[in-house]
Amino acid sequence: MGYPLTVDVRPPEPSPPVALYVHVPFCVARCPYCDFVVYAGADARGPRARTSRLFDALLVELGLRADAVDAAFGPVDGRPRLSSLYLGGGTPSLMPADRVEQLVAMAAARFGLDPDAEITLEANPGPDERGDFEAFRRAGINRVSIGAQSFVPEELRRLGRRHSPADIAAAVAAARGAGIRSVNLDLLYDVPGQTEASWRQSLAEALALEPDHLSLYALTLDDPETEGLTGETGDHLATTPGARRWREKALADQDEDLAAGQYEIASELLETRGWHHYEISNWARPDHESRHNLAYWLRRPYEAIGPGAHAFDGVIRRWNAAAMEPYVAALSASPPELPAGGRESIEGAAALSERAILSLRTDDGIPIEWADPEPLRSAIQWGRDAGLLESFERAGSIRLRLTVRGNLLSNELFARLV
Ligand code: SF4
Repeated sequence: MGYPLTVDVRPPEPSPPVALYVHVPFCVARCPYCDFVVYAGADARGPRARTSRLFDALLVELGLRADAVDAAFGPVDGRPRLSSLYLGGGTPSLMPADRVEQLVAMAAARFGLDPDAEITLEANPGPDERGDFEAFRRAGINRVSIGAQSFVPEELRRLGRRHSPADIAAAVAAARGAGIRSVNLDLLYDVPGQTEASWRQSLAEALALEPDHLSLYALTLDDPETEGLTGETGDHLATTPGARRWREKALADQDEDLAAGQYEIASELLETRGWHHYEISNWARPDHESRHNLAYWLRRPYEAIGPGAHAFDGVIRRWNAAAMEPYVAALSASPPELPAGGRESIEGAAALSERAILSLRTDDGIPIEWADPEPLRSAIQWGRDAGLLESFERAGSIRLRLTVRGNLLSNELFARLV
């Protein structure tokens, strides 16, 4: 299940997808920092749940997207098969296993699935949220990504999470017991109230569970509304007033220097334990790099279904609008229609910038030749002068990658590369 960490240097042209993302927009409760497209509470379970119609609509969209890929690139037998299927959310582990099985089977029938394809399901650790890993494995799931976030009860409470540290351990044990091949844990740093010591505690407890992959994300507190992402065809839902108040308070409690220190602590610890730091926020044991996320960073073409989901064919990036009701209505119509959304063509200088930014996120970096046209040349020279980029040799050619300092300050470099 290895994945070649090589940068794709083909000129951009529309290509059939090698990965498929499915957005499952339900959670038991909504965390106040979360910007994902999520419907929670009565929408997610109980007599008024809107899950069943959405699950039906996902299958209809999958069929329509596959029809379009067939029309553009020919029948499934003559195309590359998917190397990754990713059920993200939201909390896809709330899905009944037979719905997961339907999705996996339909993806295999309509897009083709490599025999060793990575098939990921995101899960929350709580006993009423993690679902039945045994049944998920029978449905085809071979990788789970568990939203641990912290092993400190007070931090979990502050983040609005419903689970305890013991639940995380139980979820990992359940995944292992079910024979899930690869287990990821997500952790958050720069959490208000978090200290260097409590971060070390979360890292130590995560490592004690022996996951195969760790994603360590800084808590980011954006406002999708002011960024213009919540309109009729926007890919985000509006932030509730309560969540906005929570974020304002949390923002005041965040500390850039503490966050940088936390990142360095994790980098050093995981390096001494032999983990592969293959992307700014991601570490893996050998052969457990996330094939799906690598498809994003290496600008490989991927298809996507579900409210707010983004797809890319090598040139066009398109997204579905976030609102669930119009999404379900379009796909339940007779005949069904593709849901509303947006699209943009990424070509020329924009494609070169995006290619450099995404590839620099990985430890494979970029060939030095990519540092040539402006504005890349000046930005990369700035990055080298500022100690954010270093050159290295691989297979007889010179490449550039982020330094440790570059990982910390990557956003400053990326803003100049656009
Ligand atoms: S559980 Fe995850 S997806 Fe759901 S609201 Fe919380 S952060 Fe968002």
